[in-house]
Amino acid sequence: MNDRARIEVHAGDITKLAVDAIVNAANTSLLGGGGVDGAIHRAAGRELEFECRMLNGCKVGEAKITKGYKLPARYIIHTVGPVWQGGGKGEAELLASCYISSLELAAANDCRTVAFPAISTGVYRYPKDEATQIAVDTVGAFIDERTMPETVIFCCFDDQMAELYRQAVAALRKS
Ligand code: ADP
Repeated sequence: MNDRARIEVHAGDITKLAVDAIVNAANTSLLGGGGVDGAIHRAAGRELEFECRMLNGCKVGEAKITKGYKLPARYIIHTVGPVWQGGGKGEAELLASCYISSLELAAANDCRTVAFPAISTGVYRYPKDEATQIAVDTVGAFIDERTMPETVIFCCFDDQMAELYRQAVAALRKS
């Protein structure tokens, strides 16, 4: 089997996905914010914030896991992407590390299906093409080596981003 068939691209709202884990593009406080983070906290309910308060924040490039509460997803994996500062501050390595840390946590918690948003491409201003390439390459390399998670969904909020991901995934399949 071509392992790259384990990657899917979906356009829509990540809070609606009934998967084992969704990934949150959080901030270092883990106490909620705007964008996808705000949407996840609103949909999961206040209990999520109570659990997040116990976690003592999260460093850029790392990840922490909570329950999904009112979400259809069983778990939320909170990771903190880098703020784009021009590319010379280790942003690429930190962004790749978000994907790896999240996948490690997913595997450790027996998650078969995990959905990622496009980490850092909103308020954190990471250029979309470069972020997409890092996301797809990093996930592709990880699942080549591992059996879990079985399926990774890239959940894009709009069709333009979904198209970028589809192109990057198609290029990965040919490589
Ligand atoms: P960051 O601070 O890491 O840049 P943002 O939440 O601002 O995080 O944006 C990350 C990406 O998540 C953006 O591409 C944005 O369009 C997307 N996004 C926002 N809301 C949702 C949602 N409900 N589901 C999926 N993706 C979302």
